[in-house]
Amino acid sequence: MNDIQKVNSRAALMQDRIAASGTYLLLLECDKRIKVSIGKRGEMTAEPGFYVYVGSAYGPGGISARVRRHRKAATKPHWHIDYLRAVTKFLGAWCVHHTRCEHAWAQHLIQSGSATMPLTGFGSSDCNCTTHLFYFMCKPEKTELETLLNTKLARISYQDHGSRRRIRVRKRRSGAKSVATAWAKRP
Ligand SMILES: [Zn+2]
Repeated sequence: MNDIQKVNSRAALMQDRIAASGTYLLLLECDKRIKVSIGKRGEMTAEPGFYVYVGSAYGPGGISARVRRHRKAATKPHWHIDYLRAVTKFLGAWCVHHTRCEHAWAQHLIQSGSATMPLTGFGSSDCNCTTHLFYFMCKPEKTELETLLNTKLARISYQDHGSRRRIRVRKRRSGAKSVATAWAKRP
């Protein structure tokens, strides 16, 4: 495989990851006690600390598009998490690609006893889970979450187009210099 093919292959791989579906986990921080209306689910009191939300994305754009929406905070709340996101700070997100396991993750977190469940039915209107939202008083690190979920979490490529960088590959061909350029997301 030559340099140009390598770049094209890498760009295709990244594009696949960017659009990939799967299960994701959001980490949000709340810095003050605040009452927030969670749509039809009712009101909850967000406490200073950290919220972990588990969800999945199988629509167009996959996890990247979904997390980009969460990162910016939705202007029109649709999911329960949109209401909580409006009063919290986005700290990060991780995922597993091509696997639907948000309910298993919720069960792991419920059974771990490491987190509390602030509002029954949060994000779980369409399933049997008690909740898809969990509260941690101390910030859970990625490795701790991996242990609790019994899985390896991947980073998500959710940067906007403006943060893309240009990868240049220079290749000498017959003494002349040709340049191949490809767009790629930051790893
Ligand atoms: Zn569920």
